[in-house]
This record gives sequence, C-alpha cells and structure tokens, in this order.
Amino acid sequence: DLSHGTVLYLEDISVSFDGFKALNKLSLDIAAGELRCIIGPNGAGKTTMMDVITGKTRPDAGQAFFGSTINLLRHRESEIVRLGIGRKFQKPTVFEQLTVLQNLELSLQADPRVLACLRFKPTATQLDRMDAVLTQIRLLGEAGRQAGLLSHGQKQWLEIGMLLMLEPKLLLLDEPVAGMTDFETERTAELLLSLQGQHSLMVVEHDMKFIAALTADDVRKKVTVLHEGSVLAEGTLNQVQANPQVLEVYLGR
Ligand code: ADP
Repeated sequence: DLSHGTVLYLEDISVSFDGFKALNKLSLDIAAGELRCIIGPNGAGKTTMMDVITGKTRPDAGQAFFGSTINLLRHRESEIVRLGIGRKFQKPTVFEQLTVLQNLELSLQADPRVLACLRFKPTATQLDRMDAVLTQIRLLGEAGRQAGLLSHGQKQWLEIGMLLMLEPKLLLLDEPVAGMTDFETERTAELLLSLQGQHSLMVVEHDMKFIAALTADDVRKKVTVLHEGSVLAEGTLNQVQANPQVLEVYLGR
C-alpha cells in the first residue's frame, strides 16, 4: 500500500571531495506518496544528495534504502532507474527534433540513445499510458508537435512526462520551475500535487512561492532545510521559516 511505509531512507550519509564534506552524516526519510520540498543555500549538498540516491556518487559512509529492502548502495545508476527512481535535472533535455509523442515513446525504450523510435510499436497498454501522461502534463493537444517548438515550461512538463512513462515510485526534481513564467509555475505546482500519493516526490527548489503552493494542501507537510551537508531543520514551511538557525543561514542574522 503506497500510503504507508518509507520509500527512501538515508542514514548518516557522508561524501567527501578532497577532504571537503559535501554531505556530512545526512539523514532523511521520505514516506511513500509524500511530496517533500528540499531547500538550502548553494553548496548545501542538495545535488550531491540526489547523486547518492541515483547511484552517481558513492558515499564514504552511511546507508541508503529504497523501500524497506533495496540497498541503493549496492546498485548501479542504470539499475536504480529501473528500480523506479526518476530524476529530472534543472535544464530540459527533450529531443527537440522529435514530436511530443515520440519523446514519450523514446522513454519506454531500453537505450534512448538509439533513435529507433520510428520503428517502435507501443503496446495498447503503453498507448493508454501515453494518453494518461499527456493529459497529466497538459500536452494532449500538442502530441504531434515538434518538441523544439514547445515553450520552456512545456518542455519541462514533457520531460516530467517522459519520467512518468516509466511509472517511477520516487521522482527527484531539481528546480523544476527555474525560468518558468508565473502561469507555468502555478501549473507545475498543480501537476506535482496531482502526482503525490501515487508517486513520492523530492523537489529541490529556491522559489519560496512555489514551495508555498506545494505545501498549501496539507498543514502538516514537511519541508527539509539542508546546510553544510546535513539537515539543519525539518518541519512545516511555517516552522522552518521561523527557525532561528534557518534565518541565520539565509539572512545572516
Ligand atoms: P547544492 O546542490 O546544494 O548547491 P552541491 O551538492 O552541488 O550543493 O555541492 C555541495 C558542496 O560540494 C559544494 O561546496 C560543492 O562545491 C562541492 N562539490 C560538489 N561536487 C563536487 C565535486 N565533484 N568535486 C569537488 N567538490 C564538489
């Protein structure tokens, strides 16, 4: 049951680069179905944390579990994608020459670098999935359009759609609304809120208005503040915004 249990469990994760601790005993849990916002100043370790979760960086110490049984530190980056962890980087990386639909088809293929999509025949189930995803990302009317012609916001949604095709349990999103208009930012908040429950999400973001939108539906929703490689504060948005240590880090008070 997705509404129970822990989807991600990090304990005392440390990562050093030439003696500098990018992560310093970082511990963090994400519940199944949860949408968790992660904030923190530049250099706090947010990217390194996502690199550890996705198998791109191996920690020097600590534990990382996906669900209750999968030890992430025993899996390669490519395996972790198939286990059900999708990651979206800040910049959109859609295939601009292909249509919206072809981009979604591509994400179903084992090796997206092989542009074999023109001969790819999706199954009926996959076609249904594509329709559902196109509706979710509000691009149903643009299915035949070349991806390069989409707006910046639409490209970001398409990339989220490409991840959704793989039905990930956990989605990691790095600053998904960077560069978006206010309208696109609001639509993105709606999209991510519609995904919670069915998926777990970790959203790294600087835009506090966007974080407020993502947490507005549930007063108990947690926000995590990273600083110097570990968790500085965790609580509701109001709690972390009123936390003296958080204020000191952000405002130098
Ligand atoms: P954030 O994403 O929160 O801005 P990062 O995880 O990118 O933080 O970086 C945390 C710290 O680790 C920064 O001080 C950064 O310079 C350092 N760092 C990150 N990756 C490397 C690397 N490959 N080599 C050396 N230092 C790194």
